[in-house]
Amino acid sequence: MKQNLLDFDAAGLTAWFAGMGEKPFRAKQVLRWLHQFGEDDFEQMSDVARSLRGCLAELAEVRVPQVLRDATAADGTRKWLLDVGNGNAVECVFIPEENRGTLCISTQAGCALDCAFCSTGKQGFNRNLMTGEVIGQLWRAKKALGDFRGAGGGAADRRTAETDLSADRIISNVVLMGMGEPLANFENVVTALHLMLDDNAYGLSRRRVTVSTSGILPAMDRLRDECPVSLAVSLHAPNDALRDRLVPINRKYPLAELMAACRRYLEKSPRDFITFEYVLLDGVNDSEEHARELIRLVRDVPCKFNLIPFNPFPASGFKRSPALRVRRFAEILMQARIITTTRKTRGEDIDAACGQLAGQVRDRTQRREKRTITIAEAAS
Ligand code: SAH
Ligand code: SF4
Repeated sequence: MKQNLLDFDAAGLTAWFAGMGEKPFRAKQVLRWLHQFGEDDFEQMSDVARSLRGCLAELAEVRVPQVLRDATAADGTRKWLLDVGNGNAVECVFIPEENRGTLCISTQAGCALDCAFCSTGKQGFNRNLMTGEVIGQLWRAKKALGDFRGAGGGAADRRTAETDLSADRIISNVVLMGMGEPLANFENVVTALHLMLDDNAYGLSRRRVTVSTSGILPAMDRLRDECPVSLAVSLHAPNDALRDRLVPINRKYPLAELMAACRRYLEKSPRDFITFEYVLLDGVNDSEEHARELIRLVRDVPCKFNLIPFNPFPASGFKRSPALRVRRFAEILMQARIITTTRKTRGEDIDAACGQLAGQVRDRTQRREKRTITIAEAAS
């Protein structure tokens, strides 16, 4: 198969070009064509030597996941279902707001971590997305929204190469909060992050790129050292007994260690706080006592809270907390001077709300079968 150029960051492309005897500035030129102009036809890369264009056409390609479905919700939220082969599909969502446009992207087909309230987790895990499939979501969305530079670039046309006004872009922020656990696909995700931050590619500031993790500790430390971007941590419970149940990875990396890792992360973070995500589940983790316990837990971690109303899906077994209880929970945190926002649910009419991204995944873990066997064994 031909080499997908979207799998490379600047360092990777430079090394690959060096293997063909090409100079580093050639790699920079091609990187710009790919990621600033959204060009996927080598023949159109006018300042690239004709002989190199011929070479690229022979050895390489620009492989972007194909769109299976493209839906826009009443509130402007737009969701793409993308084919990643072998009957697997992942989702990617654009959320327009007054002062920014956020793209939420996926990092794995499925997820092995099996959080109790997550529809992606319920599908099991199939595979890690390649770098080109992660960055390909940003590429596709920019193409569809007219957010690349150059011909047909729309808003992007008004920018010059010198001004980096992220806020001016249609997609000003990227969050890795779609399907999958980004830090369980570390190498590919970090390569994609390099492209998001690279001034010869997407040129986003570190503050505008957020990785969301359920708390894979060693990978949090690596991210801090290799590519510190904004970090969101999915907390969802104030004590180990409850978190063990809701976020099973907690059995391996319990809360005290997670809090210590958050403090370490902040030593190099582009922001001076961690965002804690907390899904409110009716009667499970949403009492006033839970809120108070939470304040004690995060006492030594500079943080903000983002409360997420649970988005139900068939047979989840959980219910969304009533609005009044959500408000009370937020109030208690804010009284402790913790900045707390409650996430608006967006795109519900197209199943694009947080945690609803389902795509379709072939479950290689065959979790359901395993469960059936356990039950059968217990019964015999
Ligand atoms: N795996 C990463 C990122 C993807 S999930 C993580 O867990 O952080 C992104 C966010 O959606 C997480 O905070 C996750 O807990 C939350 N989420 C999952 N299922 C949800 C649901 N049904 N309703 C609301 N939020 C959900
Ligand atoms: Fe995976 Fe995140 Fe869903 Fe947990 S919440 S199963 S880590 S995608």
